[in-house]
Amino acid sequence: MPTGTVYGTGGGLYRVALDAGPVVDAFLRGKVKREALTGERVVIGDRVRVEPAEGGFTLESVEPRTRQVVRRGQGGRRAKVVAANVDALVVVTAARDPDPRLEAIDRLLVIAESDELRGVLVVNKVDLPEARPAADELARRYARAGYDVHLVSARTGEGLRELRAVLCRGTSALVGPSGAGKSSLLNALEPGLALRTGELSRRGGQGRHTTVSARLIPLPGGGLVADTPGFGDVGLWGVDADQLPGCFPEFRPFLEGCRFRGCSHVHEPDCAIRNAVEEGRVSAERYASYALLREEALAAH
Ligand code: GDP
Ligand code: ZN
Repeated sequence: MPTGTVYGTGGGLYRVALDAGPVVDAFLRGKVKREALTGERVVIGDRVRVEPAEGGFTLESVEPRTRQVVRRGQGGRRAKVVAANVDALVVVTAARDPDPRLEAIDRLLVIAESDELRGVLVVNKVDLPEARPAADELARRYARAGYDVHLVSARTGEGLRELRAVLCRGTSALVGPSGAGKSSLLNALEPGLALRTGELSRRGGQGRHTTVSARLIPLPGGGLVADTPGFGDVGLWGVDADQLPGCFPEFRPFLEGCRFRGCSHVHEPDCAIRNAVEEGRVSAERYASYALLREEALAAH
């Protein structure tokens, strides 16, 4: 039975890139359909088996996922898988215009950690006047936290070779605020894609883009980019307050050192994380994000 990868979903049809080459449309039936009805959806990135049928292909089965991007259930809602078999979450921000929002970057990196995806930060628009100090500051902050950071410009091409090396491996979800330059970066890397400005990862929910569906974009130079509309629109996606300290990689070496088990790292005495902040071993800004996101996680329950 032919195998392939789901490149797009929407309107009950699944666009499947067969390993043998052609891209075909498949529809659900049987067991897979029942699972779809109970909430286990087939999503972009899923590895599937299809069978030729009258009028196209049927989707016969879905292989177990290695990793998945999950919007966890909150307030009794079901967890919703957004993309399967994603390797890296590439957070794109502009050095300026729009100005970077640290807590928004940290929120996306927390989602990456909780889904065990490699988090990468891309700082775009370094060509703009006075962008450089802001970009350098971001690079310092996030390199210290343990992330790969790339300073790039879709306009001048600076840093694009390194970005291509990141994206050409496996499947990456490209996320970040609209206007950061995600579409422009992909066009600069692969002019053949001809994405419209603002085309990537439009916000879901409102206006004329409500029916936009998720897709995987194959880069001609290798690699797949997941376009997941609405990503990051809804806060932390159900990451628990308890899970949160482990989602800051630079906290991990200190987590066993607190006096109290289950320390929230906010008000308890002898907190190893707060000590590390005071000693300058953990960035005070990242800690401030932690405290903010913790409030957010607690408020969501
Ligand atoms: P997206 O919403 O993240 O896909 O962002 P777009 O790719 O649509 O870019 C938003 C705006 O920023 C557009 O007007 C682009 O021309 C501009 N832009 C994108 N990348 C750069 C860059 O590297 N330098 C400068 N100066 N402008 C850029
Ligand atoms: Zn603590």
